[in-house]
Amino acid sequence: MDRITASVGQGGRNDRADVIVVQNLLRARGVDPGQSDGACGERTIAAIRKFQSRFMAVPDGQVEPDKATWKQLAQAGATVAPKTPAAWLGDSAQWPQSKKLQSMNPQLAVKVRGVLDALGRRGFQPKVFYGWRSVDVQARLFAEGKSKVRFSFHNAQKVDGTPYAYAADIIDARYAWTAQAESSGFWKALGEESKRQGLVWGGDWASFRDWAHVQLVSNGELARVKKESGL
Ligand SMILES: [Zn+2]
Repeated sequence: MDRITASVGQGGRNDRADVIVVQNLLRARGVDPGQSDGACGERTIAAIRKFQSRFMAVPDGQVEPDKATWKQLAQAGATVAPKTPAAWLGDSAQWPQSKKLQSMNPQLAVKVRGVLDALGRRGFQPKVFYGWRSVDVQARLFAEGKSKVRFSFHNAQKVDGTPYAYAADIIDARYAWTAQAESSGFWKALGEESKRQGLVWGGDWASFRDWAHVQLVSNGELARVKKESGL
């Protein structure tokens, strides 16, 4: 179990050994603090703030023993094998369709295949844009306002870090998210075919219509899926 003896970060005591522990844990949580050199510079403090922004409204850039930020860091470091296996690194939106399907929970993959086949028969050119994506990519989409959640069903993984997505984003290769996706009837057809497969469709969400999005289970199960992912 990792521990620190005194505060690290903005205005902290920043003992070298403590700083290294924090730098290593930040990296394990997908936030880059620069080199683990034991020096708490601007980059490390920025990384602490970035990490804190996942759970704090006003990040203070400081990690104190036994306080909330330390607990978040240490809990993750102790229980999670956070490293995504190398084969799954990189921009998952660029992967071939077969790999995107492999990145899904097998139950989801079967249903998504069914949706793709049905849409193809209706004259569309469906493709999966995102199957699985990393929590880091999720954090970026959240910051850009493209997603409403910091952890989504797309981020589900096995505790060893292998992708195990509960969600997929499906677009028509010709239209993507342009107005034509609606005027051509693609979104409507996607909703019909995904519900025929028993999937939940984001286009039904009144508060935030997520047209391309389908998921295996209802939103109420997000906490369970997150926990099972070790995240
Ligand atoms: Zn989605």
